[in-house]
Amino acid sequence: MVTSSQAGERRERILRAAVHERILEPDHAVLAAFVDLDAVADGVAALHRAFPASVPVLHTFAAKANCLVPVLAELRNNGMGCEVASAGELAQALAAGFAPERIVFDSPAKTRGELIQTLEIGAAVNADNFQELSRIDEILATRPSASRIGVRINPQVGSGSIGAMSTATATSKFGIALEDDGNRERLLRAYRDRPRLTWVHAHVGSQGCPLDLMAQGIAKAVAFAEQVNAELGRRQVVGVDIGGGLPVNFASDETAPGFDDYVACLRAQVPALFTGEYQVVTEFGRSLLAKNGFMAAYVEYTKTSGGRPIAITHAGAQVAARTVFMPESWPLRITAHHPSGAPKDGELVPQDIAGPCCFAGDLVAEARPLPELAPGDIVALLDTGAYYFSTPFHYNSLPEPAVHGARIDADGNVHFSLLRPAQTIEQLLARTGR
Ligand SMILES: *Cc1c(COP(=O)(O)O)cnc(C)c1O
Repeated sequence: MVTSSQAGERRERILRAAVHERILEPDHAVLAAFVDLDAVADGVAALHRAFPASVPVLHTFAAKANCLVPVLAELRNNGMGCEVASAGELAQALAAGFAPERIVFDSPAKTRGELIQTLEIGAAVNADNFQELSRIDEILATRPSASRIGVRINPQVGSGSIGAMSTATATSKFGIALEDDGNRERLLRAYRDRPRLTWVHAHVGSQGCPLDLMAQGIAKAVAFAEQVNAELGRRQVVGVDIGGGLPVNFASDETAPGFDDYVACLRAQVPALFTGEYQVVTEFGRSLLAKNGFMAAYVEYTKTSGGRPIAITHAGAQVAARTVFMPESWPLRITAHHPSGAPKDGELVPQDIAGPCCFAGDLVAEARPLPELAPGDIVALLDTGAYYFSTPFHYNSLPEPAVHGARIDADGNVHFSLLRPAQTIEQLLARTGR
């Protein structure tokens, strides 16, 4: 069991071993990413423990949070299913060995082709809107399917602290807005007309949503399921997919809130979810991976500009797009290290930590107090296991960095496995049309 108090020590061990094994190397491997696979397994176990055994639950991992196939395979080995939202993510989930019945396809823009494939293999589908429901009808009229089918509702409970991450606002693009004029009646008819419609789905937001707000959204989804069953006089809705969105603490090594906190909140606010009457699907992403991954980049040069020290490093917008473009919403912890990987100490000096991209805003931190950095030092960008290095931004034709899995044995030795090789110049040329 990896505890939060060990997180810093584990990162340091991994970093030193990476330098020692030349996984990080100042001429040829200036940026690399790491996933602590032991800690990921602990996170999955905590998720499984959080739900009472009396509730039939399938925990799926939201592939977009970290879509690397070996990471998905690891999660499958740990007992997870997989939530996907594009043909690419579906292919990644299948390549990682997930059985179709443990895959859920959610997307607001599913093409006919994607729906046909999903229904043919028997993966679950959550329809986003009425038009998609009609499209599914057409496809099912021509072929059999074992897929579980649900509807994503928008419970319209409002926004968390990050508007762009809040999916249950009054005007969100996701799902069917439950409180809009006529929608509830139209939805009830849709369930009445389609006995195959047996699930209700809601995902209230990702990051920045308080647990109470998320639970309110789930409560409305469950109440709607109860309403369908009551009005139809049959137990047609058998499952509720509660989405993901457990917020992650980016301010320290503490994992808070935990899955158990969220389940306690749900038990208090949505007791009907825990009677055992409904099957449950979850779709957590960030909360399973973010704190178990970090990036390390060399400092190439340092300078002072307008009196402010700047460290030019190799980690910028290409691997930290959200932080660079929305620094207020996505601040990252950064640690400073000697070329050996050992932590640097000394007087804290406010410094800009810049990336390699050719635009002025490519900063992962501004005026951040850190021990003064020098060329050849290493900076680590913490809590970046989800939605960072796994989802690169192809700016300046910077290559995608290697991602290494790490495990630490009882003697403290670090064992690396390659989760994604660094992109080669050949692959980069191919990507750009050569
Ligand atoms: C992004 C997303 C998730 C995962 O959100 P996290 O914040 O990473 O837990 C789950 N379900 C849906 C439908 C999503 O779009």
